[in-house]
Amino acid sequence: MTLANEFPEYRGKMEYHCLGCNARYDVNELHYTCPECGSVFILEDLNFDELKKTSGKEWREIFDARCATKNDSLRGIFRFYELFAPVMEENEILYLGEGNTPIVASSPALNDVTGIKTAYKNDGQNPSASFKDRGMACAFSYINTLMNKNNWDEILTVCASTGDTSAAAALYASYMKEGVKSVVILPQGKVTPQQLAQPLGSGAKVLEVPGVFDDCMKVVENLADNYRVALLNSKNSWRILGQESYAFEVAQWYDWDLKDKCIFVPIGNAGNITAIMAGFLKLYELEIITDLPRVFGVQSAHADPVYRYYSIEDPNEREYQPVKVQPSVAQAAMIGNPVSFPRVKHFAEKFEAIGGKKAFQVVQVSEQMIMDSMLLANSHGHIACTQGGECFAGLIRAKELGLISENESAVLDSTAHQLKFIGFQDMYYQNDFPAEYEVTPDSTRANKPELVIEGSEKEKMSEAAYISKAAENVVSMLGLEKK
Ligand SMILES: *Cc1c(COP(=O)(O)O)cnc(C)c1O
Ligand SMILES: [Zn+2]
Repeated sequence: MTLANEFPEYRGKMEYHCLGCNARYDVNELHYTCPECGSVFILEDLNFDELKKTSGKEWREIFDARCATKNDSLRGIFRFYELFAPVMEENEILYLGEGNTPIVASSPALNDVTGIKTAYKNDGQNPSASFKDRGMACAFSYINTLMNKNNWDEILTVCASTGDTSAAAALYASYMKEGVKSVVILPQGKVTPQQLAQPLGSGAKVLEVPGVFDDCMKVVENLADNYRVALLNSKNSWRILGQESYAFEVAQWYDWDLKDKCIFVPIGNAGNITAIMAGFLKLYELEIITDLPRVFGVQSAHADPVYRYYSIEDPNEREYQPVKVQPSVAQAAMIGNPVSFPRVKHFAEKFEAIGGKKAFQVVQVSEQMIMDSMLLANSHGHIACTQGGECFAGLIRAKELGLISENESAVLDSTAHQLKFIGFQDMYYQNDFPAEYEVTPDSTRANKPELVIEGSEKEKMSEAAYISKAAENVVSMLGLEKK
């Protein structure tokens, strides 16, 4: 076997570490929140320092070599096995094609509009069309490990979702053995038709709760506290680990050089931004990268508890307050009480300790900016979802505020595929946004299909006459001239 195909020998010693009371728990059990104090966990590898015996340069070579692997267990996010979940065996790793999503540089025309070089990392090109697959690949691989170790033949997985978590959970559960059942709990009418269709197609049990995501989360927590179920929300720290792969891939894409890079990430439940910061910090600790990028969280004014917290300059004056959300086109980030807030604080402090106060910032954008930015990006060759539009709006806002300079460049996270949230584009084009969204479409951006010829005319004409009449109409609609 070659280096690229060889499954790593290294095994970590993972422990849950409570960010509230510092208690530690063995990973042989599924924990979500601390039994002592109720806070969230992060997973730590007690053997991590052993990885430092390998130089940054050697790690870069190992990960670069694995780009050419023919081994399924190393093709996806587990290319970076040693860095995030080195407790699974080769045959326990699930690979459904997640990870390795492309970073697409913006066109010169789009860069001219903003004055800053941008690129999108298209995490919508994951199998269920959002970044959630990264976390699920890790969480389900770990469920495999647990089932093997404990000889369990049945497990019920549950999650509350703004749409994409359930699509991902249902997809991975449907790939697993018979005994793995998936239940997803959605806010009734608050997920897109595509997101509802996904878990149904994967055969999951889909339950709807009237209200918003925060209500679903409370129901799921009640279940996890009282029954034997595997909770797949981002309280599940195995998901956070898998999502670190985003940071590793960004670093590798730029050949491990992140100087003057700004990473823009939408914040909902705050799991993704947590994972991305944690990932960059690991690379930095192992000297795989020598510069941390700057990280910008972005929130809509309709769901902005993290922005509000960090908008207070003096850290001693800051106080975390959940907010009541208003309807947002960045629906997957429409969360008023983010579960991972303590994790953000934890990693933001570490980021700032290394990179200074400007290493981590949060900006706020309007719904209008989100829609306008998304349409701007997508009319220049991108495939951003509304949350991706939120990132672009965040970049424009950061520029306005003087938080980013023209010597820097930005990587924007399109967390899902454009098509999952396409209904918002329709609302914009058709000018039928409900007032609560506070979006007024710019009619010059609207695009709609035009009919070339009436179907009723077809019956009156021969096939050939009909085609030539249709072509004639196209010529006049486009004002074409003969060559
Ligand atoms: C889940 C999700 C988010 C929010 O991510 P968090 O980890 O909850 O902050 C953003 N965009 C999309 C498309 C999502 O599915
Ligand atoms: Zn605790």
